[in-house]
Amino acid sequence: MRRPGVRIPLPPLHHHMPALSVPDHLRTWVEINLGALQRNLAFVRKRIGPQPGILAVVKANAYGHGVEGVVRALAGDTEVFGVANVKEALEVASASTSRCVMLLSPCLPAEYEMAVRSGYIVTVSSAEEALAYSRYGDVRVNFKVDTGMGRAGCSSALAVDEVRQMLGMEHVFLYSISTHLPSADEDSDFTIAQLTSFDVLSDQLRAIAPGVKFHVLNSAGVLTRPEHRFDLVRPGLILYGVSPLPEYSMKLEPVLSWKSRVVLLRDLPAGASVSYGRSFIAQKPIRTALVAVGYADGFPRQVSGRGASVLVRGVRCAVLGRVTMDQIVVDVSMLPEVRLGDEVTLVGRDGAERNDVDDLASQAGTISWEILSGIGRRVERFHV
Ligand SMILES: *Cc1c(COP(=O)(O)O)cnc(C)c1O
Repeated sequence: MRRPGVRIPLPPLHHHMPALSVPDHLRTWVEINLGALQRNLAFVRKRIGPQPGILAVVKANAYGHGVEGVVRALAGDTEVFGVANVKEALEVASASTSRCVMLLSPCLPAEYEMAVRSGYIVTVSSAEEALAYSRYGDVRVNFKVDTGMGRAGCSSALAVDEVRQMLGMEHVFLYSISTHLPSADEDSDFTIAQLTSFDVLSDQLRAIAPGVKFHVLNSAGVLTRPEHRFDLVRPGLILYGVSPLPEYSMKLEPVLSWKSRVVLLRDLPAGASVSYGRSFIAQKPIRTALVAVGYADGFPRQVSGRGASVLVRGVRCAVLGRVTMDQIVVDVSMLPEVRLGDEVTLVGRDGAERNDVDDLASQAGTISWEILSGIGRRVERFHV
């Protein structure tokens, strides 16, 4: 972890010139590098070889990146877009001409009709669930088998029987059969056992359901077990340039930078306390900048007092005291030239310094997926 508050010689002035012109009135925004997104997609393609299709996971507003631009940028090598629910599927469908959208989570009964009429591929855990959808018309289904995730899915022992039933249903079209890996980045023995059991099952199922696509691999799976690529792979996080395994970070390019601005400057005397709970007390006179981002924007409150820092004019500045709903307080004592409206980098690069989503996530005691998908509605999305 980086040490906040370490004084670094000031870089030349041009380092803090914004790369694109973001309106001065924006308080917090993310910059999305669509070229990096496409290069990460190309990395996935290289890793799995030419045959399998890519099911690009774009749920949760494309992991906070803005679904519309992401869908357009990925469309060239994406067979299916994966989302969590009908509302997200609608957003994808309106951003692309491709109607191939898969709902990865189960729908509520009240959503079945909409899902079927819109032509989305629905994920089911039983033949009975598939039948319920098919009351509204022809439906394509992804049948999910639970090989250890313990969330949705059908137990492996019942899978063959359920598939036979679905194959006999007039309005049900079996598009794919899948399973999910809970620990591909943590537990290779468990993952290998899962993959072996799904291999065996897929051989049995291919015999009775020819032409059905099989798929297993999420990001961690694509990185660690590319030989189990089957017919489709389902990467999410790595498309956005963030690796579930640190050893692969260098192969990916972060897509998102998250910025805010200095909205107020103050000089505080020694002994002054900062923010709710007064968890920070100035030991000497300090200069503080208020930065216009808070936990309502998704900047995690949990980083309070955990060594988080942001970049101002290429210099790493410590976040002081607790993160509040709309603002954070930052130590800019080493930056006499700081001005109101200056850009502040929360995630991304500024001069020689860089903050990764992983850093923020570990300081907050959470995972990159949660930080990215939690970037709030007040944060504008800009495509570079
Ligand atoms: C979210 C999701 C993925 C993508 O996971 P990453 O770890 O972000 O690659 C893949 N498959 C399913 C079923 C998911 O819900």
